[in-house]
Amino acid sequence: MKHSEPTVLIVEDEAAQLELLKFNFQKQDFRTLVAEDGEEGLLLAQEYHPDLIILDWMLPELSGIEVCRQLKRNDKTREIPILMLTARGEENDKVRGLDTGADDYVVKPYSVKELLARARAMIRRSNPVRSGEVVTYADITIDTEQHKAYRDGTLLKLGPTEYRLLSVFMGRPGRVWSRDQLLERVWPHDLDIDLRTVDVHVGRLRKALKQPDKRDPIRTIRAAGYSLDLED
Ligand code: CA
Repeated sequence: MKHSEPTVLIVEDEAAQLELLKFNFQKQDFRTLVAEDGEEGLLLAQEYHPDLIILDWMLPELSGIEVCRQLKRNDKTREIPILMLTARGEENDKVRGLDTGADDYVVKPYSVKELLARARAMIRRSNPVRSGEVVTYADITIDTEQHKAYRDGTLLKLGPTEYRLLSVFMGRPGRVWSRDQLLERVWPHDLDIDLRTVDVHVGRLRKALKQPDKRDPIRTIRAAGYSLDLED
């Protein structure tokens, strides 16, 4: 699925809670997917690969914890950050939730404002490429342990910013990233960066990836952003 707004999957069996979350995320320009049980949540996560999953602890049939476990066990979904909703007093459960791979949790009743702030922070932090992995897409490879990147076996000359940019692209080939989203991920702590800086670094990355007789792997999508795409 190609789009630029972040997508959140909300898995919650209480209709009122679900509506409240959906409404608030939409107001913040998120695309929303909703599931009323764990089974459906798993299916949607695999099909749409959302940027974040809000997962209720207490679900009928398949519990939130089991859903979390399955998501983290599956290569296709393990990188998606999970924010768990737990009820007050489930201290052990919280720990278990984080053990199981949930990335953060919020205790019910929660403040929607706080939940949204956490959700944003989680998306900013999440980089689909895990450190220690070697990731390959078409003829491009990055070695995240060595912080090195290759095209067709040739080591690329990249500055740290270009490397980080490439690793964001490599996490989701084909996905269109807006400059704002790239800014949030590549310069997460820097508030003064201009959107044009993104263009400058994309330009440098493009140059570094350039090889004779090879296609430019970075597509510019007018009024939308950039995408790493060698599919067609
Ligand atoms: Ca529930």
